[in-house]
Amino acid sequence: MRIEEMIAAVQQTLGVEVDGKAGPQTWGAIYARLVGKKIDRMEPSAAISPVDARSEKVIATLLPQVRPIARALVQKAAVAGITIRVISGLRSYEEQAALYAQGRTAPGKKVTNARAGYSNHNFGIAFDVGVFEGNRYLPESPKYKAVGALGMDLGLEWGGNWKTIVDQPHFQLRPAWAADESESQMLAELRSRKDHGEAVYA
Ligand SMILES: [Zn+2]
Repeated sequence: MRIEEMIAAVQQTLGVEVDGKAGPQTWGAIYARLVGKKIDRMEPSAAISPVDARSEKVIATLLPQVRPIARALVQKAAVAGITIRVISGLRSYEEQAALYAQGRTAPGKKVTNARAGYSNHNFGIAFDVGVFEGNRYLPESPKYKAVGALGMDLGLEWGGNWKTIVDQPHFQLRPAWAADESESQMLAELRSRKDHGEAVYA
């Protein structure tokens, strides 16, 4: 894909305007407009090419701004010799409520401490990855840590850094307006924006 075509594709995918200049800063410029940060050493084409079908199905549930970053993580991991797939993305409030009920009012063991509207998964800004060896899913592996570092390089927040519940498969793309907000402040604003039909990344 030529750079001009790539820019057009990125513009279309992300729904943003760029200045049309082809160059290594293009992706950073787009990303900076979206979340106010920069991706370093990121090949733009690598960020937008589709990945495996299973991951793409989940990636499609994420906000358009998050999709290329999720793809970039899968591709960066592959370059590092680690096979990951995106296995969880958007969850509706109803789905979150059902998860929260598990181990409380419903059978099973507790899987989350987040009620409906209290998980970043409820807003399309968060996704979970699985590490695979061939087709075998590895729920635990030292590779999650390596993937966490790659994700942070892309400007993602990594659940492996969390103090209360360490969640190594989890990544999220914090909106620029939430740069200095606590997790609970950000979630409150996300719920409000959802209630009012307002964009998350604006
Ligand atoms: Zn998660």
